[in-house]
Amino acid sequence: MGEFMTIPARHGRAARLTKGQSIQIINTHGSQVVDTWCFSAEDMGEFMSNEHSRPTLGRIFPVVGKPIYSNRRRPILFFAEDTSPGRHDTIIAACDDYRYGLLGCTEYHDNCTDNLHAALRAIGLRSPETPSPLNLWMNIPVGPDGATSWGEPLSKPGDYVVLRAEMDCVVAMSACPQDMLPINGRGMKPVEAHYRVVG
Ligand SMILES: [Zn+2]
Repeated sequence: MGEFMTIPARHGRAARLTKGQSIQIINTHGSQVVDTWCFSAEDMGEFMSNEHSRPTLGRIFPVVGKPIYSNRRRPILFFAEDTSPGRHDTIIAACDDYRYGLLGCTEYHDNCTDNLHAALRAIGLRSPETPSPLNLWMNIPVGPDGATSWGEPLSKPGDYVVLRAEMDCVVAMSACPQDMLPINGRGMKPVEAHYRVVG
């Protein structure tokens, strides 16, 4: 059992998994969105893909007990456990400096896109792309007319998900620094999250 590692508030981390190992990602304080990516260890061009998972799963949320698919339609992770109400987002792109500019920010703002690339660099990897992330605990209600809105997480402190590697892979996570919309809770205060590699 690996030790608990911190994803510091507003920052990213990445971890290598061998096939069969799992990563437990913990919403320590209950209201923190964690943008999550997964890349094949053998080819950074193969990665977890929301666009390819939604049609196979037939829904917009990942499903406990079912795989999550890569852009080559192969299972890359298995969604093994989820103690939260299961509300995660697969629609919204990772935040980036442009996004905060559109929200009125005039200086550099920490963002999940830069956190992804920094976290990969820290373990000697690069990705030419920023794939659409699985936004753990991000609550984007979708109305019957397709309208989306910015909800607050439905999770509680200590909720976690367990993702099992279906191939040797790298999981990257960003504790989303969004502090201009209530997606990290009404207080709009990004905080730390934790993870550990299991198995
Ligand atoms: Zn973000």
